[in-house]
Amino acid sequence: MAERTPIIGGNWKMNLHRQEAVRLAKSLVERTGNPEPVEVVIFPPFPYLDAVGSVLASAGGNRIKLGAQNYYDQPNGAFTGEVSLSMLKDVDVQVVLAGHSERRHVIGENNELINRKVRAALDAGLQVVLCVGEKLEQRQLSQTDAVNAAQTQHGLAGVTPQQMDRVTIAYEPVWAIGTGKTASAGDAQQAHAAIRQTLTHMFSPEVAQAVRIQYGGSVKAANAAELLGQPDVDGGLIGGASLKADEFLAIINAAATQTQTALSSAL
Ligand code: PEP
Repeated sequence: MAERTPIIGGNWKMNLHRQEAVRLAKSLVERTGNPEPVEVVIFPPFPYLDAVGSVLASAGGNRIKLGAQNYYDQPNGAFTGEVSLSMLKDVDVQVVLAGHSERRHVIGENNELINRKVRAALDAGLQVVLCVGEKLEQRQLSQTDAVNAAQTQHGLAGVTPQQMDRVTIAYEPVWAIGTGKTASAGDAQQAHAAIRQTLTHMFSPEVAQAVRIQYGGSVKAANAAELLGQPDVDGGLIGGASLKADEFLAIINAAATQTQTALSSAL
């Protein structure tokens, strides 16, 4: 079984202003290990990427990675309001989100645009978190696995097996995002295993075993250990709880504890 370093992302969405963003970033870098046995990424709003990035860099730059919540696939030009990948790289962004449910269902991004964005970010040398997940009515019709498979296949069309080592999938049931409702650990495990099957069919068993699949949807300190303890759950993408240092650090610690437990049981 491939060893997968857990990945914990903090998606700040459209929250916090400069001082709060800098204060939260400082608190996180001061209280995380160097290096953490967990990959940690934070995704601040665009205007504060530079300021938050400076805080991360001042702490050595390798404790917490800087991520961007959005970008456009074109290199430059007349795309009012959009931000290019080279601009993000200029402020030391290493990871980008694509296909987040709020971009799909609130802003209206479709699979074709999401796929262009995924390929552009990989071609630019960045890590990509591709978010997939079903809506409540799809879950009620037992379409969870079919929706996840379709979004994974569309999102990753044209991606090479070599590029897959920079791809993480975030399974985020839409009905669980920001609602306080969470998939049960068993349901999350089942959905993650099915997504891994899709990756096996698309690429190979080796690629599928190596890709991290993180869970997102109302993860908090109180439910993190159970979710992260599932064999195919390789981390979490955290919205609301990532805005509070104590909560986010407790989730990182829950992931680190899982890693240590897995390592010692492998000895
Ligand atoms: C998210 O934005 O990806 C998310 C999972 O949000 P929350 O943790 O608030 O449900």
